[in-house]
Amino acid sequence: MNRRTCPDCGGRSYSSSDKGKWDCPYCGKDMSEVCNDQNLWANLTNALEEKTQELIDLLPKA
Ligand SMILES: [Zn+2]
Repeated sequence: MNRRTCPDCGGRSYSSSDKGKWDCPYCGKDMSEVCNDQNLWANLTNALEEKTQELIDLLPKA
């Protein structure tokens, strides 16, 4: 999974392939030459861990 941020409108889009044409789904800009956002999986993992901890905190303490 790759993510790119549109330099024109700032919209984020996702693709399983980093080859071929990549148009912004929001404004239609050609983002084929835009670099993939870095640390996507790290960011996702961190967000998941935060949410998981929030849920655990909501559980009654044993
Ligand atoms: Zn755009």
